[in-house]
Amino acid sequence: MNEILLLKLGELVLKGLNRKLFENLLLKRIQYTLCDLGQFDIRLAQSTITVVPQQAGVDLEEAAERVSKIFGIAAFSRAYVTEKNMDAILQAAGEYLGEELEQAETFKIEAKRSDKKFPFNSPQICMQVGEYLLEKYPHLTVDVHHPDCIVYVEVRDYGAYIRGRALQGAGGIPVGTGGKAAVLISGGIDSPVAAWMMAKRGVELTAVHFASPPYTSERAEDKVVRLLTRVSEYSGRMKMYTVPFTKVQEQIRANCPEELFTIIMRRFMMRVAEQIAKKEECGALITGESLGQVASQTMQAVGCTDMVAEMPVFRPLIGMDKTEIIAVARRIGTFEISIEPYEDCCTIFTPKHPRTKPIPAFVEKGESMLHVEALVEECVQNARYRKIGYRRQD
Ligand code: ATP
Ligand code: MG
Repeated sequence: MNEILLLKLGELVLKGLNRKLFENLLLKRIQYTLCDLGQFDIRLAQSTITVVPQQAGVDLEEAAERVSKIFGIAAFSRAYVTEKNMDAILQAAGEYLGEELEQAETFKIEAKRSDKKFPFNSPQICMQVGEYLLEKYPHLTVDVHHPDCIVYVEVRDYGAYIRGRALQGAGGIPVGTGGKAAVLISGGIDSPVAAWMMAKRGVELTAVHFASPPYTSERAEDKVVRLLTRVSEYSGRMKMYTVPFTKVQEQIRANCPEELFTIIMRRFMMRVAEQIAKKEECGALITGESLGQVASQTMQAVGCTDMVAEMPVFRPLIGMDKTEIIAVARRIGTFEISIEPYEDCCTIFTPKHPRTKPIPAFVEKGESMLHVEALVEECVQNARYRKIGYRRQD
């Protein structure tokens, strides 16, 4: 029970007056994320959050894994807590990082003493721990510039902490500090990444997915559920609305010029998503569009799509290359799911020669054959939602 987690705060240390609010949200999120793993004492002091298990047998490996996905944490590490006396510190330093020190050739000590009553200052702690480890592990040499292993010793109010190098955290700012937005989610590579990127900036998510049965299958929808479940490990739980879109698409096919199918369909998606977003008290829409990727993602097409939305539309991938998007998708664990070969409603009824520079007046004329408002209303009425993500037992 002597092992704890140390979490370093990220960007939120810069947030002035809102800082307290941010910190409280973050502490709550950590509490919720870990609550089914056992009892923890979680507190914040000097830009570091300590997570101390209050019972034996807590799975700290799993706790660290979950914490690595919480936005607002820049770095984290497991640490060993020992009494504040030099003998205990020496013994702990020699044992806790033993495996790493065995394998290393070079090392250094970094010491910090925030409890000024401790009788040794930082250089003295470095000296003593260094000497002790050199004696215990004679194969080691000291390298202060590029050591294989760094042993950190921090003497704080409640005890002394021994730890190795910290791991990189998820970064960003805590979810919930940036408002709420509705992400238009397909089963593709891009939109889950877009959702993740906005969650990273503190945005709470609601998801809207358009399905066109029987052209799209239940398995295609299940794929989206699994994608969002991955995203929710970072963003927290969310609602996913599934909108039956077959009628809209069939009406477009029957009544509109073929070259405008895609742009008109996208405008419908925006309108429906915006209605759902309003119901869910969202302040923005999110899409996974990237400029120039396909015909519907030219500047003119994006502009023409935006005209039907009152809310701001966030497109975090707009300036990213596919390879950059894929790198993020791999990192967050959505890529493998995204490349499963299920159809998307966007890929049915695709025109042979879509307009890459749609002119708004022509698009509006193309739409004038449809009962736009009634169709949108029907979609919103028939949309069903489910909850995505794990519910922790409080
Ligand atoms: P993705 O990999 O996200 O599917 P894409 O490159 O395939 O993107 P499009 O199919 O043109 O691009 O879709 C662009 C954006 O429109 C998507 O990123 C997503 O935000 C939204 N979108 C596409 N299909 C759907 C759908 N079936 N339901 C909800 N939103 C969708
Ligand atoms: Mg797609």
